[in-house]
Amino acid sequence: MEYINSVILESPKSLSELYKAVKRNPDSVLFAGGTYIMSRPGYFPKKNLHGYISLSEIPELHRVLHSDKYLELGSMVTIQGLLNASASSLSKPIYKAIGSIAPSVLRNLITIGGALCSMNCRTNLCCILCAINASAEVRFITRNNKTNLNNIKTKARWIPVAKLYDSDGRYLYSDNAVLTRVRIPSDPTISFIYNNVGSLTTRSESAVTLAFQYNMNQNSIINPSFCLSFLNNGIFNLQDFEGFLRSVKFPLSNSLLQKIAGELLKLLRTECTNITDLQRERAIRLMIDALETANREYYNL
Ligand SMILES: Cc1cc2nc3c(=O)[nH]c(=O)nc-3n(C[C@H](O)[C@H](O)[C@H](O)COP(=O)(O)OP(=O)(O)OC[C@H]3O[C@@H](n4cnc5c(N)ncnc54)[C@H](O)[C@@H]3O)c2cc1C
Repeated sequence: MEYINSVILESPKSLSELYKAVKRNPDSVLFAGGTYIMSRPGYFPKKNLHGYISLSEIPELHRVLHSDKYLELGSMVTIQGLLNASASSLSKPIYKAIGSIAPSVLRNLITIGGALCSMNCRTNLCCILCAINASAEVRFITRNNKTNLNNIKTKARWIPVAKLYDSDGRYLYSDNAVLTRVRIPSDPTISFIYNNVGSLTTRSESAVTLAFQYNMNQNSIINPSFCLSFLNNGIFNLQDFEGFLRSVKFPLSNSLLQKIAGELLKLLRTECTNITDLQRERAIRLMIDALETANREYYNL
């Protein structure tokens, strides 16, 4: 146990020690890369009087596993670690998109778990993982019986990344659970488009990130998976829009692009009520740009 300005920081060495630490200190905060925790105004170390539990010394959370179908990563793998592990299993555009997140010095600190679990900040990595249909293992710890620390039960659930958040983009499982692993489907041939405007550090109130994964089959898009994230205003995997995209035939004319923009506008107005007018306009622009890119891909087939 270490002391930082009188705030207890426990460093469990295994998952079972972690579950015991959480059970002993139910109000403590899990500390991954620390970039979010330490950048909150006045947050570290004064605000949390119940202490922090560091996840950095738990080997299981740093593991990387390659299989034919997916790449599995412990929640403490950093963005840089994800890049190092994924060069051959992710398609080039996905790899490039992940490599564009945050300055390189931060990519060595930001962990997958921290990026997915930050309370109300839906980062670029969330958006990418949501669009590429990644799922996360969340382990729920029973916290009500403090007496028996030797027999702690946990229940694991694999949850699609898109379902980790409520409609305002808030992480749903911050109270009684640890995100332990993430599985990313491995398909180096899939098409993927990623674009963003604004960032956490510049114009965050109007930031928009779009990630769009699809396969082109003759003149239509199959398996579209589409995510829009608005940093502090939510993250959306608009399934109705994905359904609409499946019905669209290529090549896309200007009038068809306008019709698609209209469909997206309708959905954004009804489902994404928190976002600003500027974010709505930008989301539509990013989608049209993405479809124009897909149109060029169609002509090159
Ligand atoms: C200057 C700056 C610029 C940035 N720019 C970008 C950017 O452009 N794009 C981008 O995507 N990100 C960016 N980030 C990173 C982003 O804002 C968060 O800081 C980061 O995703 C948090 O990851 P972390 O590993 O540091 O988590 P931490 O700060 O350690 O934790 C964040 C939260 O997640 C919880 N948590 C962590 N791990 C787990 C787990 N395994 N299970 C359950 N809960 C957990 C913690 O308790 C905490 O509440 C930037 C950060 C900074 C400081």
